[in-house]
Amino acid sequence: MRLTNLFTKTSKTSPADEVSKNAQLLIRAGYIYKEMAGVYAYLPLGLLVLENIKKIVREEMNAIGGQELIMTALQSKDTWEMTDRWDDKKVDIWFKSKLKNDTEVGFGWSHEEPISLMMKGYVNSYRDLPVSVYQLQTKLRNELRAKSGIMRGREFVMKDLYSYARSAEELQSIYEQVTDAYMRVFERLGLGDSTFFTFASGGSFTQFSHEFQTLCDTGEDTIYLHRERKIAINEEVMTDEVLNQLQLNRDELEQVKSAEVGNIFNFGTKKSEQLSLYYKDEKGENQPVYLGSYGIGITRVMGVIVEKLSDDKGLLWPESIAPAKVYLARLGLSEDVVKKADEIYATLQERGISVIYDDRDERPGTKLSDSELLGIPYRVVVSDRLLQDSTYEITERKTGQTNILTHDQLLAKLS
Ligand code: ATP
Ligand code: MG
Repeated sequence: MRLTNLFTKTSKTSPADEVSKNAQLLIRAGYIYKEMAGVYAYLPLGLLVLENIKKIVREEMNAIGGQELIMTALQSKDTWEMTDRWDDKKVDIWFKSKLKNDTEVGFGWSHEEPISLMMKGYVNSYRDLPVSVYQLQTKLRNELRAKSGIMRGREFVMKDLYSYARSAEELQSIYEQVTDAYMRVFERLGLGDSTFFTFASGGSFTQFSHEFQTLCDTGEDTIYLHRERKIAINEEVMTDEVLNQLQLNRDELEQVKSAEVGNIFNFGTKKSEQLSLYYKDEKGENQPVYLGSYGIGITRVMGVIVEKLSDDKGLLWPESIAPAKVYLARLGLSEDVVKKADEIYATLQERGISVIYDDRDERPGTKLSDSELLGIPYRVVVSDRLLQDSTYEITERKTGQTNILTHDQLLAKLS
């Protein structure tokens, strides 16, 4: 991608109406655009990051047999009344509207109900189970507060997976598979060491639900962490009884701030019974299906990564999700420099290395600081001075470490 072809521009100043670091930096770097509080558009560079996150999540969900689909944003009142979740007193974040004929509709904030009703058309016998389906979809929630940038949106992207099983044991084994898949996701996103399997409040079927909490000073949650055992308890369920049950000692736990990047629930058979989702067992008898529900906040994860990794120079992406691996900064406009920079741009692309090519007619200082603000893992400089020795300068964004390399060394380093 040539920067002269990119319509977005960087800004030196933070937007006055943003308090969160993630929104400030992402707006300054041209990754997102604020439509209104809690509602952000994803611009070309932001979309690349988002798609890279989705790709990782998709791969891990496919690896455990998840089948991808996409449900609707407009939802029917009847569906949600079946489980008593239409009432604003029961669910306080609904956006609702009306059709021309006065029929009420809701905007999807979650999909357990509609997706399970849809599955009724396909799950008939024990042979149809187990099955897991998932989507990467935009959720709409009328959140009271939206001051955390993309970490709490009124419109945000979630990955939600739903598993349908024949028994409590079968559901439990899927639940564990998803847990492992989630840890692989967070590892690949560079959050493995700071993300903890956390005991949180359950529902009518189980005592606990489980959250994936990432250590983050600007997160909204407080958890009690056992670092060695790699587990935590959300403060909302932190009681002596729970501590006993989990064989944890209060003084072995660290109180920390965190952000919930994922949340998984065991609904047992309650929802299936409410929605009449039954299957016929081997004896031909009707049995309720066991439902599990598993979310990852895709856009929140992106915000958390910004909060955790960025520094005073700007964003800093892990290679796995960066919009490009290399920021190619062409300093100067001499024929030689332009030719060499064009060449190396072509070579990197041929080798499948993603590059943002700063081919603008800008001052060197601007190019160098933009490469940092954008958070691209490697910056490669082409300049007249370096070309005199047939060398390139490469700087790692994370460490700031700079090396002068020959053409071959450069390609070896980046391949
Ligand atoms: P929270 O406790 O943060 O309000 P939740 O428990 O309501 O979230 P779920 O319904 O379980 O969230 O949604 C699954 C995941 O979606 C959450 O773990 C979180 O990562 C993400 N998420 C939830 N609400 C938002 C939001 N308003 N903006 C961005 N991501 C969100
Ligand atoms: Mg939650």
